[in-house]
Amino acid sequence: MALLTILTDDNPRLRLKSQKVTKFDKDLRTLAKNMFESMENANGIGLAAPQVGVLQRLIVIDIPEDMDYEGSEHFHIVMVNPEIVKCSGEQIGEEGCLSVPGWYGDVKRYEDVTVKGQDLYGKPVKIKASGLNARCLQHEIDHLDGILFTDKVVDAATLHRVQMAADKTPATPAKELVKSR
Ligand code: ZN
Repeated sequence: MALLTILTDDNPRLRLKSQKVTKFDKDLRTLAKNMFESMENANGIGLAAPQVGVLQRLIVIDIPEDMDYEGSEHFHIVMVNPEIVKCSGEQIGEEGCLSVPGWYGDVKRYEDVTVKGQDLYGKPVKIKASGLNARCLQHEIDHLDGILFTDKVVDAATLHRVQMAADKTPATPAKELVKSR
């Protein structure tokens, strides 16, 4: 098991645009595996490669079924070069991010999206998602373009910090987080 360091919002690398993946090799699959492990270790539900310092268009998501609305299934995906090809509706809901630890805020997203991309072997894949699954896909795809959820909060007043018992790091003022808007 290899845990990768997850970059936080003060790291300029998170603001860069990631490159399209062209090599579907063993290194890519190892990276995806390590990303899943690092995400799980940090109690996250989604992670994009630039969050671990790799500027490649790769995302992983793992949402347990009890987190979304009733009847939803376990959403476990890895996607290379993901691209939203269809979207509709809207939803406003709370988001957090492993790169903005402890902070949560309301973000407006499409309710339904269709995303096209490739699997770890380069095979084309297409998925339809709604609700939390769609929200998570949009959040992770944003990372590939250097966008953080704090850029998109509907109102800076909804940004709030949840302090973890073991977390001794001083809080970043909310206005610092949204300064790029
Ligand atoms: Zn994030």
